[in-house]
Amino acid sequence: MEAFGAGRKDIGGSKFTKFQGDLNKTYRIGIVAHDFESPFKGSPTHYAKGAKQGFMCKSTKDRQAVCCTASYDGNNPKYKILAVIALYQQNSDGQIIGVDVMPWVFNEQMYKKLDALNVDTPWSEWDLELTCTDKGFQSFNVAPKKTSVWQAKDALKKTCLEKHDQIMKNPKAFFPRDLSESEIRDILGLSAGGSAGASDLDLSDLTGEN
Ligand SMILES: [Zn+2]
Repeated sequence: MEAFGAGRKDIGGSKFTKFQGDLNKTYRIGIVAHDFESPFKGSPTHYAKGAKQGFMCKSTKDRQAVCCTASYDGNNPKYKILAVIALYQQNSDGQIIGVDVMPWVFNEQMYKKLDALNVDTPWSEWDLELTCTDKGFQSFNVAPKKTSVWQAKDALKKTCLEKHDQIMKNPKAFFPRDLSESEIRDILGLSAGGSAGASDLDLSDLTGEN
């Protein structure tokens, strides 16, 4: 056990702050990875609008879980994707004066935009310029920027990859909560036990104690 006072940022979550864009602001980033064949980690997730809660999808290849079979707005799972990025700090002349390495969690639409960039160089050789078009949904327009600043100097590259490893050590910290199926039933207001397919959903359950 450790002794500590106020101000610990790593209690109750990750000490790494997720990247968040502000409307109409432009950011230059680099995707940090050892291996550009698979720089991302992702998982299907749900968001229950009524309960204002996100959670990980529990379905497997062989079995549909209650999160997908229950009837609610959000039962169609959506991928959330985690990347580690180098966020460059720039001065008013656009010169890069510093680098923050941080997690960036984005949605399927963003992934498609990245995929559609279709540049003729490998991922590893470019940075990206992101312009935030919607702060609430964290939507960005994306453009490639030739040359990868974080990889340009060995010392910087080493630091970035070390931070990358710390962030990727516990990817779950950046995703919605991984609940049990019974916890998901509680959130959705379904009675515990039994399957809760859309067809056998009794509406009276929705006004019950949960
Ligand atoms: Zn699901």
